[in-house]
Amino acid sequence: MKWSQCHIYTSKEAPADAEIASHKLLVRGGYLKKLAPGIYTYSHLLLRSIRKFEALIRDELNRCGCTEVLMPVVHPSSLWEETGRWTEMGAGLLKFQNRNQHWFCLAATHEEAVTDYIRHDIKSYRDLPRNIYQIQTKYRDEIRPRFGLMRCREFIMKDAYSFDANQADALKSYEQMYAAYKAIFSRLGLEFRIVQADAGNIGGSQTHEFQVLAEAGEDSLLVSTSSDFAANIEVAPAIDPESVKESTEVFLPIEKFPTPNLKTIAQLSEALQIKKSELVKTLFYSTNEGFDPKDKSLKPIAILLRGEDDANPVKIKNVLGLVNPPLMLTDEEVKEVTGAWPGSCGPVELKIPIYMDTGVSKLKNFIVGANEDGFHLKNVNESRDFKATQIADLRMAKEGDLCPSGQGVLKAYRGIEVGHVFYLGTKYSKKMQATFLDKNGKAQPLEMGCYGIGVTRTVQAAIEQSHDVDGIVWPKSIAPFHVHICALDVKNEKLMALVRQVEYELEASGLEVLVDDRDERPGVKFKDADLLGMPIRISIGARGLEAGEVEVVERKNKVVHKVAPQEVVAKVQSLIKEL
Ligand code: ATP
Ligand code: MG
Repeated sequence: MKWSQCHIYTSKEAPADAEIASHKLLVRGGYLKKLAPGIYTYSHLLLRSIRKFEALIRDELNRCGCTEVLMPVVHPSSLWEETGRWTEMGAGLLKFQNRNQHWFCLAATHEEAVTDYIRHDIKSYRDLPRNIYQIQTKYRDEIRPRFGLMRCREFIMKDAYSFDANQADALKSYEQMYAAYKAIFSRLGLEFRIVQADAGNIGGSQTHEFQVLAEAGEDSLLVSTSSDFAANIEVAPAIDPESVKESTEVFLPIEKFPTPNLKTIAQLSEALQIKKSELVKTLFYSTNEGFDPKDKSLKPIAILLRGEDDANPVKIKNVLGLVNPPLMLTDEEVKEVTGAWPGSCGPVELKIPIYMDTGVSKLKNFIVGANEDGFHLKNVNESRDFKATQIADLRMAKEGDLCPSGQGVLKAYRGIEVGHVFYLGTKYSKKMQATFLDKNGKAQPLEMGCYGIGVTRTVQAAIEQSHDVDGIVWPKSIAPFHVHICALDVKNEKLMALVRQVEYELEASGLEVLVDDRDERPGVKFKDADLLGMPIRISIGARGLEAGEVEVVERKNKVVHKVAPQEVVAKVQSLIKEL
């Protein structure tokens, strides 16, 4: 294909809102154009990559018996009300009314739609198993879209849904999809980890995320140094290194003391010369999820943590059985609940539920805020001075913590969540009366699983993992074209004849070729070729032509091979094969 037909417009500068390399390169290469925050047009070149990734996904899914369909993007509210997610999804679900004042939303996910689709058809255990998928646009009204296709509002997802007669079969379907995902991301050629994860508001009990490793990733992962344990930090159990022992001290008398201007754990630790790990901080959250718009009450809870630990909102959500991670109270709300501003608050005489992290349960005679501005209490002990509603693991695990498998310690990585598999059980089928008749003629709810791949996010993740200072280095699996020919003098008829011949021969051998046919200087063309990142560049110039030489350059390592025109195809094929 000719550059002049492709609508390619590169630029030297990246826009100010592009923070990470892959986003900058996509915009600079003209691959991506913003229409509104989180909403993009994909250029012809990017679409070629997206389509290639989709083809790879289809190949693996069709191989294991999945069936492709295409469901609507616009859903009626009644469908989502059946499962309660019309309200539970919160503001992420974009809702609107049509001309008849009926409510609809743009699909953020399709559990409801697919369950509705199959419940009319599946009657008997003989209809099972089924695995139905689609590759389609999703809309999520993300609060802060950023990083281009990584966290956008409109994006392409592959979503699959399995239906089985019982749990054992449903777990088999889960394993099958797990294996298919492994094959998909391996064929893509990316470095990834499979980690235990939280089910979010999709629900379900068993779930794994597929994470592409990259420093710019939004997710924190903890991976064992010696076993195959790997988890998203959201769910990784926090187990202290062995050095942290339970205190054997006896309870001392509680004492109030002034701490003017000492508000943070760091300030207290320095002024009192006490380790942060021996100070206890109190954080406040609201468990009112706002599903009932009339209920404006706060429903506050307190969380106790050691000074150096961070609260894990997903663990708090799971311990309390909430649908979404809770939000922290504002300073004003904390003042209303405790009588003091944050920094001077603590659990003693607090009239709200108190959840204590397991790390704090090892401490005795600790220091907390006195619920009076400028004062703290020392020698505070649970059971004597306050009663914890529950003691649980509520903190973020961190690098160096012990691995839950008992072998090794945890090492931290950053990741981009590209895929997610869930075992759902009967969460949706029960609420939506999606049943089948079992062998005894008894109606049973269908056992379900759901499986997503962020198609557009993955394509950008590939760039995040594979680029250099000059531009993108596409993995062969999803490169828009295999070969980029730079025609260095478009007015030279003889040269252009050779360009056409090389293009023709390469295409005849099954390779995809982009020809830069612009009347531009070689330097401009080379820079653009590096930026766009096709695996192989061929440069055909007048001087080379005289010498009977064509340059074949590998994008990955910039190695230059000078070959005769008639050897180009064989050379390119062998280089591509090695990639
Ligand atoms: P995240 O935690 O990143 O918000 P999620 O867990 O809500 O994602 P899922 O419901 O598991 O997402 O969706 C399946 C896949 O869709 C994700 O693994 C991810 O690759 C992709 N995806 C989700 N949200 C976005 C988004 N805002 N932009 C691009 N891709 C997304
Ligand atoms: Mg997810």
